[in-house]
Amino acid sequence: MTRNSLVNSFLPRKSFGALVSALLSRGYHCMAPAIRDGAVVYEALQPGGDLPTGLSVHQSPGCYTVEITDSPRNFDWSNGPFALKPLVFKSRETLWTVERRADGQMAFSESQESPDPVAVIGVRACDLAALALQDRHFLKEGSTDPLYQTRRESLFLVAVNCTRPAETCFCVSTGDGPTAREGFDLQLDELDEGFVIHSGSPAGQEILQALPLEPVTSEHEATVAAQNRQAAECQRRRLPSGSLEAVLFDNLEHPHWQAVAERCLSCGNCTSVCPTCFCYREQDTGSLDLSRSTHTREWDSCFTQGHSYIHGLTIRAGTDLRYRQWLTHKLGSWHSQYGRSGCVGCGRCISWCPVGIDLTEEVSSIVGNSS
Ligand code: SF4
Ligand code: SF4
Repeated sequence: MTRNSLVNSFLPRKSFGALVSALLSRGYHCMAPAIRDGAVVYEALQPGGDLPTGLSVHQSPGCYTVEITDSPRNFDWSNGPFALKPLVFKSRETLWTVERRADGQMAFSESQESPDPVAVIGVRACDLAALALQDRHFLKEGSTDPLYQTRRESLFLVAVNCTRPAETCFCVSTGDGPTAREGFDLQLDELDEGFVIHSGSPAGQEILQALPLEPVTSEHEATVAAQNRQAAECQRRRLPSGSLEAVLFDNLEHPHWQAVAERCLSCGNCTSVCPTCFCYREQDTGSLDLSRSTHTREWDSCFTQGHSYIHGLTIRAGTDLRYRQWLTHKLGSWHSQYGRSGCVGCGRCISWCPVGIDLTEEVSSIVGNSS
């Protein structure tokens, strides 16, 4: 479904609660923007609960702050540290347990979930693009991850187009934003007086029919077009277009890898906040009497020592090799693996890096004008 084929309506601001009620009455748990620990995150919205207004987020390398303004808008913020990744790919979870039975045989019990449907309100274009990438990894034919799949199928996504990208955003250059093109059930453009809204799926269409909608006016359409254009034009950072696979692998010995390593703490913050990073480690923890063992999976990072530990040797012992692994995979070999770059331009790794390392600058130092 293309944006042009979608039929816009107008939802007055005073009727926004009707959208939340329609979702709740169909059994969805609603997740909506909230401030926690000084950042915008998605949190459970209680029936009758209000969304915060006037949130404004400022981001720069190594810096993220939230300011409260007197704007009536609910979605005038750029992204927070969490995209949709933690909702579908848990940071830590049990995959199976095994018990020794009285007859000495092992009994395996696989973790299963039947999650309640979850509606996420305020999803950004970059988050949808990242989710599509995670889908390619976790829902690959022949190796589908059942826990990811059940959570993914329970999601209802209400996208809101960004009006105020952060200084760190560069989704225009990756082709993933700031306006969502697909992957949503409903899409909203926020205006002071309400929302221009349309559906992107049959489930979204069904919700739309329950709302007190009004016709959209040419003034609404003009304001939406102007703010979408402005959101794209204000972005200053960019990644070179096209695949960087060949040029990055031609520069594996570039001295800049070591220059980055002199600043990088190998903390892994960048991979934790990155909505497309999917690496994990698995481990078994046995009970003291050895009658039971739990097999868990938790997020890993190419910046940890254990990530490249093989038979007594850490292959990527130095930070230069770990950063190189991250960037050459994310921006290089993802093209062979998944047909596109693994970066959706959300800028989170720039804002949440404690020393403000900026991958757009680092990649430009390494590939120069060669792309
Ligand atoms: S590499 Fe950085 S900018 Fe790109 S998707 Fe990951 S966190 Fe966002
Ligand atoms: S680039 Fe920044 S966030 Fe990533 S591991 Fe290095 S110091 Fe940590």
